[in-house]
Amino acid sequence: MNNFTDSLRAHHLKATPQRLEIANTLYKYGHVNIEDLYEIMLKKFNSISLATIYKNINIMIENAFIQEVKIPNQKSVYELTKEAHSHLVCDKCGMVEDITLDLSSISELAAHSTNFQIKKADLVFSGLCKNCQ
Ligand SMILES: [Zn+2]
Ligand SMILES: [Zn+2]
Repeated sequence: MNNFTDSLRAHHLKATPQRLEIANTLYKYGHVNIEDLYEIMLKKFNSISLATIYKNINIMIENAFIQEVKIPNQKSVYELTKEAHSHLVCDKCGMVEDITLDLSSISELAAHSTNFQIKKADLVFSGLCKNCQ
């Protein structure tokens, strides 16, 4: 268990028990979708609603404490904010893994050939994880 009280405060967030639990859950599992998060939260806060979790998630995203990873054809997952990285997603079991890649040459190529001003690039690779191959 990590103590996220200070880091929450550093992001101008009150360190409520719910937010601490969300932070610890994301720390423990890496990437968690809203349904799994709800289930985990229910074990600790037996009357918590999905709306409350969303409210907390949204303010934690606004304050850049956590971030949403959008995955095509799958529910978004949430993770603690870290350096820019891409993701590997298993089509079979849904496992999400981080991968750090230098996307600068791809971004440059894309910007150059389209005149699009690229601000951010994060790739999602889909396929089969080691266990599902
Ligand atoms: Zn898999
Ligand atoms: Zn990630």
